[in-house]
Amino acid sequence: MSQRPRGTRDFTPDEMEARRYLEGLFRTEAELHGFKEIATPIFEYTELFTLKSGPNIVDEMYAFEDKGGRQIALRPELTAPTMRFFVNDLTNYPRPLKLFYFGQCFRYERPQSGRYREFFQFGAELLGAANPESDAEVIALAADTIGRSGLTNYVIRIGHIGILRERLYKGGATPANASPILQKLDKKLFDEARALMGQIGMSSGDVEEVIRITEVVGSPELLEEQQGEASDYLKELFSVLTEYGIANAQVDLGVVRGLDYYTGMVFEMDAPSLGAEKQICGGGSYSLTELFGGDKVFSTGFAIGFDRTLLALEREGLTPGKRRLQAYVVPTSDRMRHKAFTIVARLRKEGISADVDLMRRSIGKNLKYADAVGARYVVIVGEKEDAQGSVTVRNLGSGDQTLVSTRELPKALK
Ligand code: ATP
Ligand code: MG
Repeated sequence: MSQRPRGTRDFTPDEMEARRYLEGLFRTEAELHGFKEIATPIFEYTELFTLKSGPNIVDEMYAFEDKGGRQIALRPELTAPTMRFFVNDLTNYPRPLKLFYFGQCFRYERPQSGRYREFFQFGAELLGAANPESDAEVIALAADTIGRSGLTNYVIRIGHIGILRERLYKGGATPANASPILQKLDKKLFDEARALMGQIGMSSGDVEEVIRITEVVGSPELLEEQQGEASDYLKELFSVLTEYGIANAQVDLGVVRGLDYYTGMVFEMDAPSLGAEKQICGGGSYSLTELFGGDKVFSTGFAIGFDRTLLALEREGLTPGKRRLQAYVVPTSDRMRHKAFTIVARLRKEGISADVDLMRRSIGKNLKYADAVGARYVVIVGEKEDAQGSVTVRNLGSGDQTLVSTRELPKALK
């Protein structure tokens, strides 16, 4: 038997139905918030991602040399491609420019539940604004998107990288040596972070104060105890979120996000039901355009893990968008077979999902099949009824049968 590559998945018709439905909800939500969809290639020059995330990212990518000797990578994320696209072609669009995307990403990771080598991200970027309300706008889209999916058990944690950075600099760190420390803090590897801070000569008092900041987690009121520009910024952001009706957002000054280009607000969303791989969304404000040869443009964005959102919904017993076949049309004789085809074609034209017997089965077997595929109604096309210009409609749920005029059938089924 041929096998799929490790970390990839096939999707059954039921799974695709749920996925397409959820994808549709996400798109609609983004459009309701005034974001417009873009698409970029599945593969890019490897350099695009190393510029953004550093050379180590190559270990986590499907990167290869093509037949022309070019260094190519399957995209591990969509922010860098979006910024490349913006710098090349979209700088003349009115700002703020509000973009969203949906597509697959590839990462050479160790596969486990909620972690795949091919997975899907739904994300958005707001370009050209850098203030509490533009950040809140992006968080609101992420929150409303997840909310729209029907998931109830999730939290939004919002921090500000500036607070930790300032404290690190005050203790003697520099932008260069702060970066590995922040990466350890992102992974909650506190002892390793302590060791790194010790190595650059920070006092143990300063070290513990940095650690203490990462433990500020809870209601936005906790910001009252913090001083400085960054916490004032967050206070204003939380007040906009309240006006937007986003109630389940917390402060978490331990949200770091491992990468250097995050400049201010950072946020994550978790679905606790997922266990270790619980993060369903990550985002923040950043500036990347100058890396790709453009002017500096501040942006805020996020990426939702589409597959993990679906897993979380499953854990809550929710399957999005189960659609049922409305009508299954069954002829009772060869002559009626041709009648059945015209009926099914008319139903489809009227926007009613309809199917017809293609196996020349008996009525009994057809009823069983209709039940097995979850049809709502069976339309029986029989000689006697046809002579009166009618068909029999059987409700598979209740077992009730009614005679319906063939002309009125689409209306009756609607
Ligand atoms: P993690 O720490 O879980 O690896 P990350 O920080 O690498 O996440 P991002 O790069 O911010 O994640 O991607 C955004 C979202 O995409 C994540 O919150 C997660 O839901 C999802 N995601 C990331 N990697 C994978 C993967 N290998 N398989 C499935 N979903 C993923
Ligand atoms: Mg990762």
